Amino acid sequence: MYCSIIPPYLLRRLARQDAPEFSAAARAAREALGHVRSVHAARTQATPEVPAGVRQAKPGPSNRTVFDAAGSEVLPGKLVRKEGETATGDPATDEAYDGLGHTHRLYANVFGRNSIDGRGLPLNATVHFGKLYDNAFWDGTQMVFGDGDGEVFERFTRSLSVIGHELAHGVTQYSAGLLYRNQAGALNESMSDVFGALVEQYVKNQSTAEASWLIGEGLFTSRVEGQALRSMKAPGTAYDDDVLGKDPQPDSMDSYVKTSADNGGVHINSGIPNRAFCLLAEQLGGNAWDSPGRIWYETLTGGSLPKGATFTVFARATAATAVELFGSGSKEHDAVRNAWETVKVKL
Ligand SMILES: [Zn+2]
Repeated sequence: MYCSIIPPYLLRRLARQDAPEFSAAARAAREALGHVRSVHAARTQATPEVPAGVRQAKPGPSNRTVFDAAGSEVLPGKLVRKEGETATGDPATDEAYDGLGHTHRLYANVFGRNSIDGRGLPLNATVHFGKLYDNAFWDGTQMVFGDGDGEVFERFTRSLSVIGHELAHGVTQYSAGLLYRNQAGALNESMSDVFGALVEQYVKNQSTAEASWLIGEGLFTSRVEGQALRSMKAPGTAYDDDVLGKDPQPDSMDSYVKTSADNGGVHINSGIPNRAFCLLAEQLGGNAWDSPGRIWYETLTGGSLPKGATFTVFARATAATAVELFGSGSKEHDAVRNAWETVKVKL
Protein backbone atom coordinates (compact mmCIF):
# COMPACT_ATOMS: atom_id res chain seq x y z
CA MET A 1 0.00 0.00 0.00
CA TYR A 2 1.26 3.46 -0.95
CA CYS A 3 0.17 6.28 1.37
CA SER A 4 1.46 9.83 1.06
CA ILE A 5 1.01 12.69 3.50
CA ILE A 6 0.06 15.43 1.00
CA PRO A 7 -3.37 14.69 -0.45
CA PRO A 8 -3.75 14.80 -4.25
CA TYR A 9 -6.25 17.69 -4.12
CA LEU A 10 -3.60 19.89 -2.50
CA LEU A 11 -0.95 18.91 -5.04
CA ARG A 12 -3.39 19.47 -7.92
CA ARG A 13 -4.17 22.96 -6.71
CA LEU A 14 -0.50 23.76 -6.29
CA ALA A 15 0.29 22.30 -9.73
CA ARG A 16 -2.06 24.85 -11.36
CA GLN A 17 -0.24 27.86 -9.85
CA ASP A 18 1.27 30.16 -12.47
CA ALA A 19 2.62 32.93 -10.20
CA PRO A 20 6.40 33.20 -10.73
CA GLU A 21 7.11 33.18 -6.99
CA PHE A 22 5.58 29.70 -6.79
CA SER A 23 7.08 28.25 -9.98
CA ALA A 24 9.27 25.72 -8.15
CA ALA A 25 6.32 24.65 -5.98
CA ALA A 26 4.06 24.22 -9.03
CA ARG A 27 6.69 22.15 -10.84
CA ALA A 28 7.32 20.06 -7.71
CA ALA A 29 3.60 19.43 -7.27
CA ARG A 30 3.25 18.29 -10.91
CA GLU A 31 6.15 15.88 -10.44
CA ALA A 32 4.77 14.57 -7.15
CA LEU A 33 1.38 13.95 -8.81
CA GLY A 34 3.03 12.04 -11.66
CA HIS A 35 4.93 10.01 -9.09
CA VAL A 36 1.74 9.11 -7.18
CA ARG A 37 0.28 7.71 -10.40
CA SER A 38 3.31 5.59 -11.26
CA VAL A 39 3.68 4.21 -7.74
CA HIS A 40 -0.02 3.37 -7.61
CA ALA A 41 0.30 1.38 -10.82
CA ALA A 42 3.41 -0.47 -9.66
CA ARG A 43 2.27 -1.29 -6.15
CA THR A 44 -1.28 -2.50 -6.39
CA GLN A 45 -0.35 -6.02 -5.26
CA ALA A 46 2.52 -5.18 -2.91
CA THR A 47 0.76 -5.39 0.46
CA PRO A 48 1.89 -8.43 2.45
CA GLU A 49 -0.92 -10.50 3.94
CA VAL A 50 -0.56 -10.77 7.69
CA PRO A 51 -3.42 -12.12 9.79
CA ALA A 52 -5.04 -9.45 11.93
CA GLY A 53 -4.80 -9.65 15.67
CA VAL A 54 -1.67 -11.77 15.80
CA ARG A 55 -0.24 -11.46 19.30
CA GLN A 56 3.49 -11.16 19.26
CA ALA A 57 6.67 -11.48 21.23
CA LYS A 58 7.64 -8.76 23.71
CA PRO A 59 8.86 -5.51 22.14
CA GLY A 60 12.57 -5.52 21.34
CA PRO A 61 14.87 -2.55 20.70
CA SER A 62 14.44 -0.54 17.51
CA ASN A 63 16.47 -1.43 14.43
CA ARG A 64 16.69 1.69 12.31
CA THR A 65 18.50 2.39 9.05
CA VAL A 66 18.44 5.69 7.19
CA PHE A 67 19.39 5.90 3.51
CA ASP A 68 20.12 8.93 1.32
CA ALA A 69 18.69 8.95 -2.22
CA ALA A 70 20.77 12.11 -2.96
CA GLY A 71 18.09 13.61 -5.20
CA SER A 72 17.39 10.42 -7.16
CA GLU A 73 14.17 8.38 -7.03
CA VAL A 74 15.98 5.08 -6.56
CA LEU A 75 15.21 3.27 -3.31
CA PRO A 76 16.63 2.74 -0.82
CA GLY A 77 19.77 4.82 -1.66
CA LYS A 78 23.11 4.97 0.14
CA LEU A 79 23.21 3.91 3.81
CA VAL A 80 23.98 6.97 5.98
CA ARG A 81 23.00 6.05 9.55
CA LYS A 82 22.44 2.72 11.28
CA GLU A 83 20.99 1.94 14.71
CA GLY A 84 23.27 3.18 17.47
CA GLU A 85 25.39 5.45 15.27
CA THR A 86 25.83 9.09 16.25
CA ALA A 87 24.12 12.02 14.54
CA THR A 88 25.35 12.78 11.02
CA GLY A 89 24.74 16.54 11.10
CA ASP A 90 22.33 16.29 8.16
CA PRO A 91 18.97 17.45 9.59
CA ALA A 92 16.83 15.21 7.34
CA THR A 93 18.85 12.09 8.22
CA ASP A 94 18.86 12.82 11.94
CA GLU A 95 15.20 13.86 12.12
CA ALA A 96 14.18 10.67 10.28
CA TYR A 97 16.33 8.56 12.61
CA ASP A 98 14.91 10.22 15.72
CA GLY A 99 11.34 10.10 14.42
CA LEU A 100 11.55 6.37 13.74
CA GLY A 101 12.88 5.88 17.27
CA HIS A 102 10.15 7.98 18.91
CA THR A 103 7.48 6.08 17.01
CA HIS A 104 8.99 2.72 17.93
CA ARG A 105 9.06 3.80 21.60
CA LEU A 106 5.39 4.80 21.69
CA TYR A 107 4.30 1.40 20.36
CA ALA A 108 6.72 -0.54 22.57
CA ASN A 109 6.28 1.36 25.85
CA VAL A 110 2.61 2.28 25.68
CA PHE A 111 1.00 -0.47 23.61
CA GLY A 112 3.49 -3.33 24.04
CA ARG A 113 3.86 -3.64 20.27
CA ASN A 114 7.10 -4.94 18.78
CA SER A 115 7.62 -2.44 15.93
CA ILE A 116 5.23 -1.73 13.06
CA ASP A 117 4.35 -5.33 12.20
CA GLY A 118 4.39 -6.55 15.83
CA ARG A 119 7.33 -8.80 14.95
CA GLY A 120 10.27 -6.43 15.21
CA LEU A 121 10.22 -5.14 11.64
CA PRO A 122 13.43 -3.15 10.98
CA LEU A 123 12.52 0.49 10.36
CA ASN A 124 13.99 1.88 7.17
CA ALA A 125 13.75 5.41 5.83
CA THR A 126 15.09 7.16 2.76
CA VAL A 127 15.70 10.93 2.86
CA HIS A 128 16.47 13.43 0.07
CA PHE A 129 14.20 11.50 -2.28
CA GLY A 130 13.84 13.20 -5.69
CA LYS A 131 14.49 16.83 -6.56
CA LEU A 132 12.45 19.26 -4.38
CA TYR A 133 10.07 16.34 -3.92
CA ASP A 134 6.79 17.49 -2.33
CA ASN A 135 5.73 14.50 -0.27
CA ALA A 136 6.54 11.85 2.30
CA PHE A 137 5.17 8.35 1.99
CA TRP A 138 5.08 4.80 3.32
CA ASP A 139 5.53 2.49 0.32
CA GLY A 140 4.38 -0.67 2.07
CA THR A 141 7.86 -1.52 3.32
CA GLN A 142 9.66 1.70 4.25
CA MET A 143 9.38 5.48 4.77
CA VAL A 144 10.41 7.95 2.09
CA PHE A 145 10.90 11.71 2.58
CA GLY A 146 11.24 14.50 0.03
CA ASP A 147 13.02 17.79 0.68
CA GLY A 148 9.99 19.94 -0.24
CA ASP A 149 9.96 22.71 -2.84
CA GLY A 150 11.08 25.43 -0.40
CA GLU A 151 8.32 27.83 -1.52
CA VAL A 152 5.28 26.11 0.01
CA PHE A 153 6.66 22.99 1.69
CA GLU A 154 9.71 22.56 3.89
CA ARG A 155 11.51 19.23 4.20
CA PHE A 156 9.12 16.53 5.33
CA THR A 157 11.18 15.15 8.22
CA ARG A 158 10.48 18.37 10.16
CA SER A 159 7.15 17.10 11.45
CA LEU A 160 7.14 14.22 13.91
CA SER A 161 3.38 13.77 13.46
CA VAL A 162 4.06 13.16 9.75
CA ILE A 163 6.62 10.44 10.54
CA GLY A 164 4.22 8.90 13.07
CA HIS A 165 1.38 9.19 10.55
CA GLU A 166 3.25 7.32 7.81
CA LEU A 167 4.46 4.53 10.11
CA ALA A 168 0.92 4.11 11.46
CA HIS A 169 -0.10 3.18 7.90
CA GLY A 170 2.23 0.24 8.40
CA VAL A 171 0.54 -0.68 11.70
CA THR A 172 -2.89 -0.57 10.03
CA GLN A 173 -1.58 -2.60 7.09
CA TYR A 174 -0.29 -5.29 9.48
CA SER A 175 -3.40 -5.30 11.73
CA ALA A 176 -6.95 -4.40 10.60
CA GLY A 177 -5.84 -3.87 6.99
CA LEU A 178 -8.48 -1.18 6.45
CA LEU A 179 -9.19 -0.68 2.74
CA TYR A 180 -7.92 2.59 1.33
CA ARG A 181 -11.20 3.90 -0.05
CA ASN A 182 -14.41 5.57 1.10
CA GLN A 183 -15.13 5.42 4.87
CA ALA A 184 -12.70 2.56 5.55
CA GLY A 185 -10.03 4.64 3.81
CA ALA A 186 -10.92 7.74 5.82
CA LEU A 187 -10.63 5.57 8.96
CA ASN A 188 -7.24 4.33 7.71
CA GLU A 189 -6.15 7.99 7.31
CA SER A 190 -7.62 8.88 10.70
CA MET A 191 -5.74 6.03 12.46
CA SER A 192 -2.54 7.50 11.04
CA ASP A 193 -3.39 10.99 12.27
CA VAL A 194 -4.36 9.67 15.72
CA PHE A 195 -1.18 7.66 16.24
CA GLY A 196 0.94 10.35 14.55
CA ALA A 197 -0.42 12.90 17.04
CA LEU A 198 0.16 10.46 19.91
CA VAL A 199 3.82 9.99 18.96
CA GLU A 200 4.31 13.76 19.09
CA GLN A 201 2.38 14.19 22.36
CA TYR A 202 4.23 11.27 23.98
CA VAL A 203 7.66 12.63 23.07
CA LYS A 204 6.77 16.13 24.27
CA ASN A 205 5.00 14.66 27.32
CA GLN A 206 1.95 16.80 26.54
CA SER A 207 -1.47 16.35 28.07
CA THR A 208 -4.57 16.47 25.89
CA ALA A 209 -5.11 20.08 26.96
CA GLU A 210 -1.54 21.11 26.08
CA ALA A 211 -1.37 19.36 22.71
CA SER A 212 -1.86 21.23 19.41
CA TRP A 213 -3.74 18.34 17.76
CA LEU A 214 -2.22 19.52 14.48
CA ILE A 215 -0.87 17.15 11.84
CA GLY A 216 2.12 18.36 9.88
CA GLU A 217 3.03 21.41 11.93
CA GLY A 218 6.24 22.94 10.55
CA LEU A 219 5.78 21.70 6.98
CA PHE A 220 4.54 24.97 5.52
CA THR A 221 6.99 27.77 4.76
CA SER A 222 6.26 31.21 6.22
CA ARG A 223 4.63 32.20 2.90
CA VAL A 224 1.63 29.96 3.63
CA GLU A 225 -1.34 31.16 5.68
CA GLY A 226 -1.77 28.06 7.79
CA GLN A 227 -0.51 26.15 10.78
CA ALA A 228 -0.51 22.58 9.49
CA LEU A 229 -2.09 20.12 7.04
CA ARG A 230 -4.94 19.15 9.34
CA SER A 231 -6.42 19.98 12.72
CA MET A 232 -7.90 17.07 14.67
CA LYS A 233 -9.47 19.39 17.21
CA ALA A 234 -11.07 21.73 14.67
CA PRO A 235 -11.12 20.05 11.25
CA GLY A 236 -11.43 22.59 8.43
CA THR A 237 -9.32 25.28 10.14
CA ALA A 238 -5.72 24.13 9.57
CA TYR A 239 -5.07 26.56 6.67
CA ASP A 240 -6.81 29.19 4.60
CA ASP A 241 -4.44 30.40 1.94
CA ASP A 242 -4.50 32.12 -1.50
CA VAL A 243 -2.41 29.38 -3.07
CA LEU A 244 -3.61 26.28 -1.20
CA GLY A 245 -7.23 27.29 -0.65
CA LYS A 246 -9.06 26.44 2.54
CA ASP A 247 -8.74 23.25 4.57
CA PRO A 248 -11.68 21.16 3.23
CA GLN A 249 -12.18 18.82 6.21
CA PRO A 250 -15.69 18.48 7.69
CA ASP A 251 -16.02 18.29 11.48
CA SER A 252 -19.20 16.17 11.57
CA MET A 253 -21.39 13.93 9.42
CA ASP A 254 -23.57 16.99 8.65
CA SER A 255 -20.87 18.18 6.26
CA TYR A 256 -19.59 14.74 5.11
CA VAL A 257 -18.08 15.11 1.62
CA LYS A 258 -19.35 12.67 -1.00
CA THR A 259 -16.69 12.46 -3.69
CA SER A 260 -14.97 9.90 -5.87
CA ALA A 261 -11.70 11.92 -5.86
CA ASP A 262 -8.88 10.96 -3.47
CA ASN A 263 -10.20 7.37 -3.15
CA GLY A 264 -13.54 8.70 -2.01
CA GLY A 265 -12.28 11.57 0.12
CA VAL A 266 -9.98 9.61 2.43
CA HIS A 267 -7.97 12.72 3.43
CA ILE A 268 -11.12 14.85 3.76
CA ASN A 269 -13.64 12.82 5.76
CA SER A 270 -10.91 11.58 8.12
CA GLY A 271 -11.59 14.85 9.97
CA ILE A 272 -14.76 13.31 11.42
CA PRO A 273 -13.18 10.32 13.25
CA ASN A 274 -10.15 12.52 14.06
CA ARG A 275 -12.38 14.92 15.96
CA ALA A 276 -14.17 12.03 17.69
CA PHE A 277 -10.83 10.85 19.08
CA CYS A 278 -9.92 14.36 20.23
CA LEU A 279 -13.34 14.78 21.89
CA LEU A 280 -12.87 11.46 23.70
CA ALA A 281 -9.45 12.58 24.96
CA GLU A 282 -10.81 15.97 26.06
CA GLN A 283 -13.54 14.35 28.14
CA LEU A 284 -11.13 11.98 29.86
CA GLY A 285 -8.32 14.51 30.38
CA GLY A 286 -4.74 13.51 31.15
CA ASN A 287 -2.65 11.95 28.41
CA ALA A 288 -4.34 10.90 25.19
CA TRP A 289 -2.09 7.84 24.79
CA ASP A 290 -3.54 6.35 28.00
CA SER A 291 -7.23 5.26 27.92
CA PRO A 292 -8.20 6.96 24.62
CA GLY A 293 -5.13 5.60 22.81
CA ARG A 294 -5.66 2.16 24.30
CA ILE A 295 -9.30 2.00 23.18
CA TRP A 296 -8.37 3.00 19.62
CA TYR A 297 -5.29 0.74 19.52
CA GLU A 298 -7.15 -2.34 20.78
CA THR A 299 -9.97 -1.70 18.30
CA LEU A 300 -7.54 -1.39 15.38
CA THR A 301 -5.37 -4.38 16.26
CA GLY A 302 -7.80 -6.64 18.12
CA GLY A 303 -8.56 -8.79 15.07
CA SER A 304 -12.30 -8.27 14.71
CA LEU A 305 -12.53 -4.97 12.83
CA PRO A 306 -13.60 -5.63 9.22
CA LYS A 307 -11.34 -4.29 6.44
CA GLY A 308 -14.25 -2.39 4.97
CA ALA A 309 -15.46 -0.86 8.26
CA THR A 310 -17.70 2.19 7.97
CA PHE A 311 -17.62 4.99 10.56
CA THR A 312 -20.58 3.40 12.35
CA VAL A 313 -18.96 -0.04 12.42
CA PHE A 314 -15.77 1.48 13.82
CA ALA A 315 -17.65 3.65 16.34
CA ARG A 316 -19.54 0.60 17.65
CA ALA A 317 -16.27 -1.34 17.85
CA THR A 318 -14.64 1.41 19.95
CA ALA A 319 -17.68 1.42 22.28
CA ALA A 320 -17.38 -2.37 22.61
CA THR A 321 -13.65 -2.06 23.35
CA ALA A 322 -14.37 0.57 26.02
CA VAL A 323 -16.86 -1.82 27.64
CA GLU A 324 -14.36 -4.68 27.47
CA LEU A 325 -11.56 -2.61 29.02
CA PHE A 326 -13.44 -0.40 31.47
CA GLY A 327 -16.94 -1.81 31.85
CA SER A 328 -20.40 -0.90 30.61
CA GLY A 329 -21.46 2.57 31.79
CA SER A 330 -17.86 3.46 32.77
CA LYS A 331 -16.77 7.05 32.17
CA GLU A 332 -14.66 5.80 29.24
CA HIS A 333 -17.69 4.08 27.69
CA ASP A 334 -19.84 7.20 28.10
CA ALA A 335 -17.11 9.43 26.71
CA VAL A 336 -16.73 7.25 23.60
CA ARG A 337 -20.47 7.41 22.95
CA ASN A 338 -20.57 11.17 23.52
CA ALA A 339 -17.68 11.74 21.15
CA TRP A 340 -19.35 9.88 18.27
CA GLU A 341 -22.69 11.54 18.97
CA THR A 342 -21.08 14.98 18.82
CA VAL A 343 -19.68 14.30 15.34
CA LYS A 344 -23.08 12.81 14.34
CA VAL A 345 -21.85 9.29 13.61
CA LYS A 346 -24.68 6.83 14.31
CA LEU A 347 -23.89 4.26 16.95
ZN1 LIG B 1 -1.86 8.93 5.21
